[in-house]
Amino acid sequence: MEKLKTRFAPSPTGHLHIGGARTALFNFLLARQTGGTFLVRIEDTDRARHDESAVAKIVEDLRWLGLAWDEGIEVGGPNGPYRQSERLELYESHVQRLVDEGKAYYAFETAEELAAKRALAAAEKRGFRYERPATFPSADAAARARASGRPVVVRFCAPAGDVTIHDEAFGDVTVPAGEMEDFIIRKGDGYPTFYLANVVDDAAMGVNLVCRGQEFLGQTWRQSVLRRALGLPEPKFCHLPLIMDMRGRKLSKRDGDVDVQSFRKAGYLPEALVNLIALLGWRPAGDIERMTLAEMIDSFSFDRIGKANAKFDRDKLLAFNTDAAAGADPDRLLAGFRDYLSLNDTAIPVGDDGLLRRLLEITRGFRTFADIPAKCGVLFGPDDAFDYDAKVVRKVLEKNDGAGYAVLTDLRDKLGAFDFAAGAEGIEKFLADYCQTADLGLGKVAQPLRVAVTGTAISPAIGETLAILGRDKTLARINRCLAARQAG
Ligand code: GLU
Repeated sequence: MEKLKTRFAPSPTGHLHIGGARTALFNFLLARQTGGTFLVRIEDTDRARHDESAVAKIVEDLRWLGLAWDEGIEVGGPNGPYRQSERLELYESHVQRLVDEGKAYYAFETAEELAAKRALAAAEKRGFRYERPATFPSADAAARARASGRPVVVRFCAPAGDVTIHDEAFGDVTVPAGEMEDFIIRKGDGYPTFYLANVVDDAAMGVNLVCRGQEFLGQTWRQSVLRRALGLPEPKFCHLPLIMDMRGRKLSKRDGDVDVQSFRKAGYLPEALVNLIALLGWRPAGDIERMTLAEMIDSFSFDRIGKANAKFDRDKLLAFNTDAAAGADPDRLLAGFRDYLSLNDTAIPVGDDGLLRRLLEITRGFRTFADIPAKCGVLFGPDDAFDYDAKVVRKVLEKNDGAGYAVLTDLRDKLGAFDFAAGAEGIEKFLADYCQTADLGLGKVAQPLRVAVTGTAISPAIGETLAILGRDKTLARINRCLAARQAG
């Protein structure tokens, strides 16, 4: 198989979103599978949209996902620098060459003049296309225009005939001659446009596969004609289908998280997210959906990349995550949980790995790490700061003439005399003995206790819950609950 040199070339405008992560993943897989190279380059020539902090965010998100690159920002390599803002001379030399060869020309309309031309075209009900001048302005004329405050850009001469691009997923895509206009390759601020910098770098860096989102397909002709004009080799193309929500609308923040970082913060494991992202446009052979990154590298193939819109299924992600957490090695899970806690402000104390392991164990079956503080956070907060759920209090404590309260009153002294050093198991045994003596089912005892110490009917097993609290806090909470009854 041909070794592929692929690249992920994000423009730094914020955290990596699901679409970007999918592009990075597919490029990673294709490079790994063919024993090729995966490169990461920062495309930061759009200074208006540039967000410097986004570079570090993207790097962090890629690393969290486990998509290591062989060449590019931070790791270096033979074709650096890997930030386009540090390669301006290279682009400029290509722009100059095109101007010198008469394939591109200076233009210096102001934004207002261009807007007026567009408005005129609209009024005359014709599409606007920039009209190429009969003779191209000289470099001197451009310098004078610049000196007089005009924005000087360089436009590339669009080809006279149709342009066809072959795409691995979408097949042949033809753009008719009439639809192409002389587009800008160097902007008024002196920076190259994305089209130019992108093709110059792909060639300079030896990229032989361009794999990216479908939104770029419609303008790939620009890159193709630039390559031809510059005599640069044409890579293979593979555009990836659009990502939709379950209702068929373009995936957006509207219905939940779309940034990798948000999923991390919400308590997902990267392996589950990567697994789901892999299915956004790729249909694995045999329709096996659950896969590790290593399995994906083995089975990934171009011919199973579809062009139908992909659907981002949040329920499936939750199911993947539940399974990934249940199957994860304990050390791996601990690392993930610590990462989750470092990003969130929860009541759970960090730093005691023994405790964290225990919490992971007693909440087994959780869907995301966020379920753990939701279920156990109250155990670590102050004894007098949680609310009692009125509905639960009625059902568990007040019903049958306050049978639940009676159990609490009875147990308070007995628990006060019990040595909590016996641990969760010892406490369970103590409660089982109590139930037998009092002739009560365990639920009739465990539930009132649970409500008294957490305010809700949901917590880990009662022995674990009380063991984590310890005797003093257990008693303080039972007392508070009984006092609340009197006050109410
Ligand atoms: N820099 C482009 C972006 O914003 C990517 C271009 C490409 O992949 O060719 O996502």
